[in-house]
Amino acid sequence: MKYVTLGKTGLKISKVGLGGIPIQKSNAQEVKALLQALIEQGVNYIDSARGYTVSEELLGEALEGMRDRFVLATKSMARTKEAMEKDIQISLQNFRTDCIDLYQVHNPSEADLETVLAPGGALEALQEAKAAGKIGHLGITAHSLAVFERALELDWVETIMFPYNIVESQGEALMAKCTERNIGFIDMKPLAGGAIEDATLALRYICANPDVTVVIPGMYSVKEAEENLAAVLNESPLTEEEKQKIEAIRGQLGTNFCRRCNYCQPCTKGISIANVFLFAGYLQRYDLGEWGYSRYQTLPVKADACVDCGLCETRCPYHLPIREMLKKCAADMKTFEETRAAKQ
Ligand code: SF4
Ligand code: SF4
Repeated sequence: MKYVTLGKTGLKISKVGLGGIPIQKSNAQEVKALLQALIEQGVNYIDSARGYTVSEELLGEALEGMRDRFVLATKSMARTKEAMEKDIQISLQNFRTDCIDLYQVHNPSEADLETVLAPGGALEALQEAKAAGKIGHLGITAHSLAVFERALELDWVETIMFPYNIVESQGEALMAKCTERNIGFIDMKPLAGGAIEDATLALRYICANPDVTVVIPGMYSVKEAEENLAAVLNESPLTEEEKQKIEAIRGQLGTNFCRRCNYCQPCTKGISIANVFLFAGYLQRYDLGEWGYSRYQTLPVKADACVDCGLCETRCPYHLPIREMLKKCAADMKTFEETRAAKQ
């Protein structure tokens, strides 16, 4: 295994870690087998989230007797001090540990981030927990460039997690700043939320960028883990054939893939367009329908509120057919809801 230092945290971690989203589909026995296989391969980094339903709990159960073999990271959507205090406590209980190595503020909007930083905000709880030894280090995760840029200015931020993959290179310039400032860059969505099928190629492409500290593909079987690790350990330069495949993937996904840059905003009706696509993607491509559907339910304005004004499409730098895509998302969510209701 190749090991790296996770920015200012000083933690020594494997170049590839376990992304905890698909753990939700698993059970404690399978997770334990997966963790044992990861230990054998030298993987020592696990990322989860309070928002990934049972992911923290399953990992906690599987980690019994193996806690010291892993650097454990999680994150919370809490924005206030009170809510963050509760979430830290729940994470500690779920993981059955007295210290979580890295705790991250999970995907705040620009406004959310100001709430986190303000008096009575979530940062106070995080810093108190860190001082008390319940948390080792602090980080942040983001999907928007504006939040990424703001996070770079915050001295408590030791790591930043952001999407980077064959079809999402919008963060590259800011990733280089992470290297300059010794902030660990954690690469999420290496397969673009399941849109890229060739995991080996996707991981080789990502690891060729020296600004990526660690990549965390979602893995839930030993076979998947072995394939991912082989890709990361193959440090030979990308071949011409691989470069051609990368261009083909870009060509294929480029016409209908949302990079979550938010340039299309504001929507006339207040639809959070990028989030609709993100949540629908879990349902359409990632076999995580229940989770995608439940997150979609938290959006105050749904895809079917679109009035076809077309303004968003004039602003999208990738010329996405946003209106058509939103109609498909609305239809897929409705089908999921009906199927779900029929089963109950
Ligand atoms: S076309 Fe629909 S999604 Fe786009 S700005 Fe208008 S209402 Fe919003
Ligand atoms: S729809 Fe276009 S402008 Fe809007 S977030 Fe996606 S890629 Fe960016």
